[in-house]
Order: sequence, then structure tokens, then C-alpha cells
Amino acid sequence: MFWFLQSPMALKLFLFALLISLPTSLSSTASKGKEQKPKFNPYRYKFIDKASTFASSSSSSFSSNGRDSTYDYIVIGGGTAGCPLAATLSRNFSVLVLERGGVPFTNANVSFLRNFHIGLADTSASSASQAFVSTDGVYNARARVLGGGSCINAGFYSRADAAFVKRAGWDPKLVNESYPWVEREIVHQPKLTLWQKALRDSLLEVGVRPFNGFTYDHVSGTKIGGTIFDRFGRRHTAAELLAYANPQKLRVLIYATVQKIVFDTSGTRPRVTGVIFKDENGNQHQALLSNRQGSEVILSSGAIGSPQMLMLSGIGPKKELQRLKIPLVLENEHVGKGMADNPMNTILVPSKQPIEQSLIQTVGITKMGVYVEASTGFGQSPESIHTHYGVMSDKNELFSTIPAKQRRPEATQAYIRRNKYQLHEAFNGSFILEKLAYPISRGHLSLLNTNVDDNPSVTFNYFKHPVDLQRCVEAIRLVSKVVTSKRFLNYTQCDKQNVHEMLSLSVKANINLRPKQVNDTKSMAQFCKDTVVTIWHYHGGCLVGKVVSPDRKVLGVNRLRVIDGSTFDESPGTNPQATVMMMGRYMGVKILRKRLGNKAGV
Ligand SMILES: Cc1cc2nc3c(=O)[nH]c(=O)nc-3n(C[C@H](O)[C@H](O)[C@H](O)COP(=O)(O)OP(=O)(O)OC[C@H]3O[C@@H](n4cnc5c(N)ncnc54)[C@H](O)[C@@H]3O)c2cc1C
Repeated sequence: MFWFLQSPMALKLFLFALLISLPTSLSSTASKGKEQKPKFNPYRYKFIDKASTFASSSSSSFSSNGRDSTYDYIVIGGGTAGCPLAATLSRNFSVLVLERGGVPFTNANVSFLRNFHIGLADTSASSASQAFVSTDGVYNARARVLGGGSCINAGFYSRADAAFVKRAGWDPKLVNESYPWVEREIVHQPKLTLWQKALRDSLLEVGVRPFNGFTYDHVSGTKIGGTIFDRFGRRHTAAELLAYANPQKLRVLIYATVQKIVFDTSGTRPRVTGVIFKDENGNQHQALLSNRQGSEVILSSGAIGSPQMLMLSGIGPKKELQRLKIPLVLENEHVGKGMADNPMNTILVPSKQPIEQSLIQTVGITKMGVYVEASTGFGQSPESIHTHYGVMSDKNELFSTIPAKQRRPEATQAYIRRNKYQLHEAFNGSFILEKLAYPISRGHLSLLNTNVDDNPSVTFNYFKHPVDLQRCVEAIRLVSKVVTSKRFLNYTQCDKQNVHEMLSLSVKANINLRPKQVNDTKSMAQFCKDTVVTIWHYHGGCLVGKVVSPDRKVLGVNRLRVIDGSTFDESPGTNPQATVMMMGRYMGVKILRKRLGNKAGV
């Protein structure tokens, strides 16, 4: 049984391991004697608990019991920016995080790469992903879980370029300290799949050069980026950055949905006093900010959630608030404006054999402001191909061609039977995608009702600006070159004439709800417009200079900031999560230094 102990080195290691584990084993035996089994904590950290454990209730006047007293910081949304921010602030101050979703740690859809598509396809109320469809007719998703978008995303990790940092007015030294703070804990080098190697070589062949190897940096050419999936395909999320927190000063409540921010409007400027949230049983609570100077509510609810919350709390376009009878706290017509989403178009590359699954690993960073990436294969479950989610599905034609009322299960099955052969191959295979950096086209967000659980209406106006459309046309030409390159054809074994078929497959796959035209594969511009999907990098809604100041303070009110992707005018780098997490850490350090100077110790 202990064959491995035959080598002297192995024996030494075994004895050493036994020695260091002895006290633990003994103490666990001793506690077994007293029948005190160590308790499994599904929330991982002691400072996380359900929202219903909060003591105050808005039905009575607010009373604190010592534990639920006031907080120096209340962070709304424990997402990609919210977690690193809260962990940092808790070093010196009391922090309450209110997150509407549950924990990611025990959620298999979140934890494993192979479940990426299944997680997005889960449209139940308890899903970590809340689906929405923009008025453009494009499927989309937003996170509803501690760790936010980092729990449902494709995991690719790449920093912003120096020009972005400069435009943001950030201190480059602190930026360069904040990225590694994130990377040490949750970022990995990917194990490159064959297909991603083929993309790398094809990009170099068509001139997206030089090859920059594996790097987190944003540099022109072709590179391999980082990932938050480890080599076992296990996801590490922003929620794990809470490991940095001071557990004495942090409290994280899950299933805590904030309904509005509360203001004292008796002075010259509205001043935040706290927030109202509901727990998992639907009971309301009020959490209060401390009266100490510097205390703040910080909105980190993401590009959909933060503008929505400002409006629900009375900050936004006057007419819109009046329409929904929301009492006006401060008129600001810019809230919900300047929304943008980087349009993505794909060429589906079919395969008869299932291909090893990979999300994004290789990226081509071109000089024309276009990024080229690929995603291959599906998770192990055959069902993951047949789930109706945006670009991930072969069922979408149903949604675009059949009126909503007729979308019955039989119709779904009939559609799958009809299209199984061709589209199954497409979704079995892979897709090469191109996405536009910094689109000029802008959209907006507006409330449909006052229920915070419901998605607001979101419009991105993909390709409204002709320059965006022209760039897409050039990008599709580049991707066509990639799929006809020698390296690529060698690998995929498909012949050149099939490129036209690939384009028409991409149109037929009906990956969105937009009408299709007959000339889709002849006119590249039409192809772009009709097959546009999202890469989920939407941003804006609380832009710097319009809704917040450069240090993210909400203009015109006291004690309120927004720190998340809603403040970005453009998506940083090829993919934003690295910079969103970095910003959480960066802003936390900035705030501590401003309040405490050297005493902050960060
Ligand atoms: C499917 C998908 C794939 C992606 N792939 C990548 C990728 O590979 N690489 C990459 O870099 N980026 C990727 N992104 C983008 C990236 O994940 C997001 O840009 C980033 O996570 C946004 O961070 P955030 O902090 O702004 O918002 P979020 O991370 O969404 O955080 C907002 C948090 O606020 C909570 N919240 C909202 N409203 C309330 C409320 N009223 N009360 C309490 N809590 C609330 C939400 O539940 C959420 O946890 C992807 C995104 C998606 C959706």
C-alpha cells in the first residue's frame, strides 16, 4: 500500500508531513471526544451571512443592537469592483457589503469552466446570471452573485494600456501595485489548447505581429493572456479577494437587495444617511452610515445596477423620475446616458468531432482598434449546446422567427430536429470573434418600473455610428483571412471555399433577435449589423464628469460614490475585469490614504 515510501526521500517527506499534521489530527481527535465536529461553513468566511441576520427593520423605527450599528462604508454590490474595494477599506474602517446574490463558492455553475454556458443558460430566479435583452435585439447577461461578473464571465484577464490609465488620471505607481494585488490571489497562466495555438499561429501569419508571449500587459500584436481559471478548470473570483479583509471590520450580507439610497434633503446639498434593503424573505431593513466625517455609501452595482439605483433613489433625468413618481433628490440628465457595449461578430467554424473546450486564451491586438479571439467547444453536457442563450445556442431561431406566444416546447423540439445536423456542427466547433475597442455609438438606460429586481430598458445602438460599422467590416475581412490562413486550414482541415459557408452558417445560427437580410453574406456591413452579439463588456451610465467626479464622487450630493464599470467611458484593455478589480483596490487605497495619510498603512 505504501509503495511510494520505498524511496528514502519519499519516506522523509511522509514523516515530515505526518509531523506537521500531528497537532491538527490530535486536536480534531480531542474535539471528536467532546463531540465538537468542525462546522462546514458554506459561506467560506465568517463575516458573510444572510441578509435576514441584520437586526433592524424599517417597519419599526431603526434600533441598533450594537452589531447592526452604523458603518463607515456601505458598499452596494459585492461584485468585481465591490469585493476588492470592501476588503481594502476594512483595513481601517467598518464596512457593510450588501449583495443581492448568494455566494459563489458552492455553486458548480460558477466554479467550473465546463459549466460556463450552462450557467448563462440558467434563467431561474436563483441563477448567478440575470439575463436581459437590449432593445437592439441582442441577448445579454448581468451578474447576481457575490464576486459579480467575475463569477459568470469567460475568465480572460488582461490589463489596460498605459494610455487608458493616463486618461483616467490614475497614479501609475499605485496602479502597478494594485494589479499584482489581484493577480497574486486569483490569476493564472492558461494551459494553451491546440486550437488556441492554431489561432496564435494564424494571427501571426496574417500580420498581427509581433508575438508577445504570455503577458498581462496590453501590447499590439498577438499574445496569450491570463485567466481566473486554474489548471483544473476551477474558477477563482473577486469574492476570493475578500481573503485580504480585516474580518473584525467587515460584514457581508448576501441576498441583500438594496432598494434605495436614503438622503437627508434638509441642508443645501442632499446628504446620504443610509440605504434600505430587503432580505431573502422580503423583509425590509435600513442600514445607517456613521456620522463620522468621511463616511460614504459606495455604489458598486455594475453598469446596469448603478445607474438604475441612482434613479430609483431620486437622482436622474427629471421627466423620467416624474413618470414613475419617484421623488426627485437631484436632477441629472446624464444618469443612464453614454451606455456602450463593444459589438462582437463571429465566424462559426463547424466541426464533426467535439473540440476541446477553451474560452479565451489567445488575443490579437490590432492597430485598427479591433481585437480577435476565439472560443472553442462546449461543456461536457450535450444539453449545453441546446440551451437557449445568445451566441451559445442553436435554438435561437425560435426566438427570432416565432412569435413569443408560439414558442412552445414542441416548437422548440421541431426546430432542433430540423436543424440538428448543420447547427450542431457549428456549435460543436468553435468561433473566431472580433470585437471593437472603444465603439463611438452610444446608447442609454431607462427605468421600466420601480422594482429593483427587474432589468431596466437598455439600448446600445450597435453600429449607429458609420465609423464603427466600417471598422467591423475591416475586422470581418481580417477574421476571414485568419480562417483561410495556411496554419488555420492545416489545423481545421476545411477547404477555402468553405469560408462563404461559414459566414452563411453564422447568419443561419441566428444568434440574436435582429431581422436577417438576404444579402447578409455578400454585404459585410449587413453581416455586421445582422449578426452582432455582445462580449458583455457594456459600460457607462455614470460617466466621469457627467455623473461622478474623477475620484468617483457623485456630483451634487454628499457622501456618495460610484466605483465600478458604469464610470468607464471605454472598456479598458481587451477585457475589462482586470482593471475593474484593480480599480476596486486602487480606489480603496486612495480613500484610506486621503483620510488617514501615512497612518493608513497601505
Ligand atoms: C458572460 C460574461 C463574460 C465576460 N467575459 C469576460 C472576460 O472573459 N474577461 C473580462 O475581463 N471581462 C469579462 N466580462 C466583463 C466583466 O466580467 C465585467 O465587466 C465586470 O465583471 C463588471 O464589474 P462591475 O464591478 O462593474 O459589476 P459586477 O461585477 O456585475 O458587480 C455588480 C454587483 O452588484 C450586485 N447588485 C446589483 N444591484 C444590486 C442591488 N440593488 N443590491 C445589491 N446588490 C446589487 C450584483 O449582484 C453584482 O454582484 C464578462 C462579463 C459577462 C457577463
